[in-house]
Amino acid sequence: MSGSQAHTHAHDLDEPALRARALESLLLEKGLLASDTVERIVRVYEHHVGPMNGARLVARSWVDRAFRARLLADGSAAAQEMGVLGLGTDRLVAVENAPRVHNLVVCTLCSCYPWSILGLPPTWYKDPAYRSRAVLEPRTVLAEFGTILDESVEVRLWDSSAEVRYLVVPERPAGTAELDGEALAALVTRDAMIGVTRLAAAA
Ligand code: FE
Repeated sequence: MSGSQAHTHAHDLDEPALRARALESLLLEKGLLASDTVERIVRVYEHHVGPMNGARLVARSWVDRAFRARLLADGSAAAQEMGVLGLGTDRLVAVENAPRVHNLVVCTLCSCYPWSILGLPPTWYKDPAYRSRAVLEPRTVLAEFGTILDESVEVRLWDSSAEVRYLVVPERPAGTAELDGEALAALVTRDAMIGVTRLAAAA
Protein backbone atom coordinates (compact mmCIF):
# COMPACT_ATOMS: atom_id res chain seq x y z
CA MET A 1 0.00 0.00 0.00
CA SER A 2 1.36 3.41 -0.88
CA GLY A 3 -1.09 5.63 1.09
CA SER A 4 0.17 7.19 4.31
CA GLN A 5 -1.55 6.55 7.65
CA ALA A 6 -2.95 10.09 7.70
CA HIS A 7 -4.39 9.57 4.25
CA THR A 8 -6.15 6.41 5.39
CA HIS A 9 -7.64 8.17 8.41
CA ALA A 10 -9.01 11.04 6.34
CA HIS A 11 -11.07 8.49 4.49
CA ASP A 12 -12.69 7.13 7.63
CA LEU A 13 -15.15 10.03 7.43
CA ASP A 14 -17.00 10.75 4.23
CA GLU A 15 -16.35 14.02 2.50
CA PRO A 16 -19.46 15.92 3.66
CA ALA A 17 -18.75 14.92 7.27
CA LEU A 18 -15.16 16.16 6.95
CA ARG A 19 -16.28 19.42 5.41
CA ALA A 20 -18.90 19.91 8.12
CA ARG A 21 -16.31 19.27 10.81
CA ALA A 22 -13.87 21.72 9.21
CA LEU A 23 -16.56 24.39 8.90
CA GLU A 24 -17.66 23.88 12.49
CA SER A 25 -14.08 24.27 13.81
CA LEU A 26 -13.58 27.38 11.73
CA LEU A 27 -16.83 28.99 12.91
CA LEU A 28 -15.98 28.19 16.54
CA GLU A 29 -12.46 29.52 16.13
CA LYS A 30 -13.72 32.79 14.66
CA GLY A 31 -16.31 33.12 17.40
CA LEU A 32 -19.20 32.99 14.93
CA LEU A 33 -20.75 29.95 16.58
CA ALA A 34 -21.18 29.18 20.26
CA SER A 35 -19.89 25.74 21.18
CA ASP A 36 -23.30 24.43 22.30
CA THR A 37 -25.24 25.76 19.30
CA VAL A 38 -24.66 22.76 17.07
CA GLU A 39 -25.60 20.34 19.86
CA ARG A 40 -28.74 22.34 20.56
CA ILE A 41 -29.83 22.28 16.92
CA VAL A 42 -29.20 18.54 16.70
CA ARG A 43 -31.32 18.01 19.85
CA VAL A 44 -34.19 20.08 18.44
CA TYR A 45 -34.15 17.99 15.27
CA GLU A 46 -34.00 14.76 17.25
CA HIS A 47 -36.88 15.54 19.57
CA HIS A 48 -39.10 18.38 18.33
CA VAL A 49 -38.82 18.56 14.58
CA GLY A 50 -39.54 15.62 12.35
CA PRO A 51 -42.11 13.79 10.25
CA MET A 52 -44.60 13.94 13.14
CA ASN A 53 -45.16 17.59 12.19
CA GLY A 54 -45.96 16.77 8.57
CA ALA A 55 -48.10 13.86 9.75
CA ARG A 56 -50.27 16.26 11.79
CA LEU A 57 -50.87 18.38 8.70
CA VAL A 58 -51.83 15.34 6.63
CA ALA A 59 -54.06 13.79 9.30
CA ARG A 60 -55.93 17.05 9.81
CA SER A 61 -56.39 17.42 6.05
CA TRP A 62 -58.17 14.03 6.10
CA VAL A 63 -60.73 15.06 8.71
CA ASP A 64 -61.11 18.79 8.16
CA ARG A 65 -62.21 19.69 4.66
CA ALA A 66 -61.70 23.43 5.14
CA PHE A 67 -58.17 22.86 6.45
CA ARG A 68 -57.40 20.61 3.49
CA ALA A 69 -58.44 23.40 1.12
CA ARG A 70 -56.21 25.87 2.99
CA LEU A 71 -53.29 23.40 2.98
CA LEU A 72 -53.55 22.85 -0.77
CA ALA A 73 -53.97 26.57 -1.46
CA ASP A 74 -51.04 27.70 0.69
CA GLY A 75 -48.96 25.08 2.47
CA SER A 76 -46.91 27.61 4.41
CA ALA A 77 -49.98 29.35 5.82
CA ALA A 78 -51.39 25.97 6.88
CA ALA A 79 -48.05 25.02 8.48
CA GLN A 80 -48.07 28.32 10.32
CA GLU A 81 -51.62 27.69 11.50
CA MET A 82 -50.48 24.35 12.95
CA GLY A 83 -47.36 25.89 14.49
CA VAL A 84 -44.91 23.94 12.34
CA LEU A 85 -43.70 26.64 9.98
CA GLY A 86 -39.93 26.89 10.01
CA LEU A 87 -36.79 25.89 8.16
CA GLY A 88 -37.50 24.90 4.60
CA THR A 89 -41.20 25.66 4.70
CA ASP A 90 -41.49 29.39 3.91
CA ARG A 91 -42.83 28.33 0.52
CA LEU A 92 -44.42 24.98 1.08
CA VAL A 93 -46.56 23.44 -1.63
CA ALA A 94 -48.81 20.53 -0.67
CA VAL A 95 -49.72 18.13 -3.48
CA GLU A 96 -52.44 15.52 -3.04
CA ASN A 97 -52.42 11.93 -4.14
CA ALA A 98 -55.60 10.56 -5.67
CA PRO A 99 -56.60 7.17 -7.08
CA ARG A 100 -55.17 8.14 -10.49
CA VAL A 101 -52.43 10.55 -9.40
CA HIS A 102 -49.26 9.81 -7.50
CA ASN A 103 -46.87 12.59 -6.47
CA LEU A 104 -43.15 12.12 -5.95
CA VAL A 105 -40.68 14.68 -4.56
CA VAL A 106 -37.01 15.00 -5.43
CA CYS A 107 -34.34 17.68 -5.36
CA THR A 108 -32.35 17.14 -8.53
CA LEU A 109 -29.84 19.86 -7.68
CA CYS A 110 -28.95 18.92 -4.11
CA SER A 111 -31.18 17.93 -1.20
CA CYS A 112 -33.74 20.69 -0.57
CA TYR A 113 -36.32 19.39 1.86
CA PRO A 114 -39.08 20.81 4.11
CA TRP A 115 -37.13 20.35 7.35
CA SER A 116 -39.62 21.85 9.79
CA ILE A 117 -42.27 19.29 8.84
CA LEU A 118 -40.18 16.24 7.84
CA GLY A 119 -36.99 16.64 9.88
CA LEU A 120 -33.64 15.77 8.34
CA PRO A 121 -33.71 14.17 4.89
CA PRO A 122 -32.96 10.46 4.61
CA THR A 123 -29.60 9.53 3.10
CA TRP A 124 -31.14 8.11 -0.08
CA TYR A 125 -32.89 11.44 -0.76
CA LYS A 126 -29.46 13.10 -1.04
CA ASP A 127 -28.01 10.31 -3.16
CA PRO A 128 -27.18 11.31 -6.77
CA ALA A 129 -28.73 8.02 -7.92
CA TYR A 130 -32.14 8.87 -6.44
CA ARG A 131 -31.92 12.47 -7.67
CA SER A 132 -31.38 11.46 -11.27
CA ARG A 133 -33.36 8.23 -11.42
CA ALA A 134 -36.49 9.75 -9.88
CA VAL A 135 -36.62 11.90 -13.02
CA LEU A 136 -35.52 9.33 -15.60
CA GLU A 137 -37.41 6.28 -14.35
CA PRO A 138 -39.77 7.27 -11.52
CA ARG A 139 -41.86 4.11 -11.78
CA THR A 140 -38.80 1.89 -11.39
CA VAL A 141 -37.61 3.89 -8.40
CA LEU A 142 -41.09 3.68 -6.86
CA ALA A 143 -41.18 -0.07 -7.45
CA GLU A 144 -37.86 -0.40 -5.59
CA PHE A 145 -39.57 1.25 -2.61
CA GLY A 146 -42.35 -1.32 -2.94
CA THR A 147 -44.74 1.07 -4.66
CA ILE A 148 -46.07 -0.66 -7.74
CA LEU A 149 -48.33 1.68 -9.66
CA ASP A 150 -50.83 0.71 -12.29
CA GLU A 151 -50.06 2.16 -15.72
CA SER A 152 -53.25 4.20 -15.45
CA VAL A 153 -51.84 6.15 -12.49
CA GLU A 154 -50.14 9.36 -13.50
CA VAL A 155 -46.85 10.08 -11.71
CA ARG A 156 -46.23 13.77 -11.00
CA LEU A 157 -42.68 14.68 -10.13
CA TRP A 158 -41.89 17.77 -8.06
CA ASP A 159 -38.37 19.18 -8.08
CA SER A 160 -37.61 21.00 -4.83
CA SER A 161 -35.46 24.08 -4.72
CA ALA A 162 -34.12 26.50 -2.16
CA GLU A 163 -37.32 28.50 -2.68
CA VAL A 164 -40.11 25.94 -3.00
CA ARG A 165 -40.44 22.64 -1.12
CA TYR A 166 -43.14 20.02 -1.29
CA LEU A 167 -45.31 17.87 0.91
CA VAL A 168 -47.14 14.90 -0.56
CA VAL A 169 -50.56 14.44 1.01
CA PRO A 170 -51.14 10.69 0.83
CA GLU A 171 -54.60 9.24 0.46
CA ARG A 172 -56.33 8.34 3.69
CA PRO A 173 -56.01 4.57 4.11
CA ALA A 174 -59.15 2.44 4.07
CA GLY A 175 -60.45 1.18 7.40
CA THR A 176 -59.58 4.33 9.35
CA ALA A 177 -63.04 5.86 9.76
CA GLU A 178 -63.05 5.26 13.53
CA LEU A 179 -59.64 6.78 14.23
CA ASP A 180 -59.11 10.19 15.80
CA GLY A 181 -56.58 12.78 14.63
CA GLU A 182 -53.72 11.51 16.74
CA ALA A 183 -54.21 7.89 15.66
CA LEU A 184 -54.47 9.00 12.04
CA ALA A 185 -51.24 11.03 12.32
CA ALA A 186 -49.48 7.93 13.64
CA LEU A 187 -50.23 6.18 10.33
CA VAL A 188 -48.54 8.82 8.20
CA THR A 189 -44.94 8.01 7.33
CA ARG A 190 -42.08 10.21 6.19
CA ASP A 191 -41.64 8.17 3.02
CA ALA A 192 -45.30 8.59 2.10
CA MET A 193 -44.96 12.35 2.50
CA ILE A 194 -41.96 12.32 0.12
CA GLY A 195 -44.05 10.15 -2.17
CA VAL A 196 -41.90 7.04 -2.45
CA THR A 197 -44.51 4.92 -0.70
CA ARG A 198 -48.27 4.85 -0.19
CA LEU A 199 -49.98 4.18 3.09
CA ALA A 200 -51.26 0.70 3.69
CA ALA A 201 -54.87 0.12 4.69
CA ALA A 202 -55.33 -0.08 8.46
CA ALA A 203 -55.30 -3.61 9.87
FE1 FE B 1 -31.61 21.04 -3.01
